[in-house]
Amino acid sequence: MRELLIHPTRTFKLSSFDPNDTFGKIREDLDSELNKLRSMMSRLQYKLYVENEKSLLIVLQGMDASGKDGIVRHVISAFNPISCTVESFKVPTTEELAHDFLWRVHRTVPRKGFVGVFNRSHYEDVVEVRVQNLVPKSVCFQRFNQIKQFEIMLVQNKVKILKFFLHISKQEQKKRLLDRLSDPDKRWKVNEEDYKKRKKWPQYMTAYTDAIINCNIREAPWYVIPANNKWFRNWVVAKIITNALIEMKIKYPKSPPHHKDIKI
Ligand code: AMP
Ligand code: MG
Repeated sequence: MRELLIHPTRTFKLSSFDPNDTFGKIREDLDSELNKLRSMMSRLQYKLYVENEKSLLIVLQGMDASGKDGIVRHVISAFNPISCTVESFKVPTTEELAHDFLWRVHRTVPRKGFVGVFNRSHYEDVVEVRVQNLVPKSVCFQRFNQIKQFEIMLVQNKVKILKFFLHISKQEQKKRLLDRLSDPDKRWKVNEEDYKKRKKWPQYMTAYTDAIINCNIREAPWYVIPANNKWFRNWVVAKIITNALIEMKIKYPKSPPHHKDIKI
């Protein structure tokens, strides 16, 4: 899905992406394709683990109810937990705040052979903190550069990075928050903060736009995922992950030379 890949040198406007877009795809087709993609993801992950050379880092960002947890449940669950880690980044603890903002992030980057998922990430440190005025804007702009350097360093150390912004409309978020409130199993997910944040929707979109423009590097690209339709969102993220794993050209290690002589 090249259309969703943000080109590092072209102008970028979030408003030119339609959160409802499904690129003319039909739900029934994509649901069965998702199952095939999940099998491919699982096979490729196994090879990645055996090869033990490179790793894959998947960054999930988006507003509340945009589907970050949904991606973990419906797409990432295709991976064997033996070599997959999921880290959900919350409001930093006192200890985390006593370090630079990348400290807690760096220590959870997936090791060689692993897939790692960031459910929120270091991008909270240039979006959430900016909108909530937790640090001056100038510090956020310095951080863009620091993030770029950090990600380039990871890429040079064989960490493939995919960054997804799950793009929902304000209207769709309202619907999802109301659905959550009326469902006893999901009510716990909603808190007052979510409503306060909704009021600052335009500020969040500006902060995300700046983060995407300033931290979009060829080696670690941003994808804007139309996420109003969960079935399209799941399929397209699975497709991009599968393609990335294929492009990583993962190989099984060579069998030792004496392999043929082994008698069992
Ligand atoms: P949730 O993802 O719904 O469990 O909520 C986690 C909350 O932690 C969200 O409101 C995030 O914006 C917030 N959060 C995550 N990282 C940071 C950060 N570095 N600074 C401030 N708030 C953060
Ligand atoms: Mg939440």
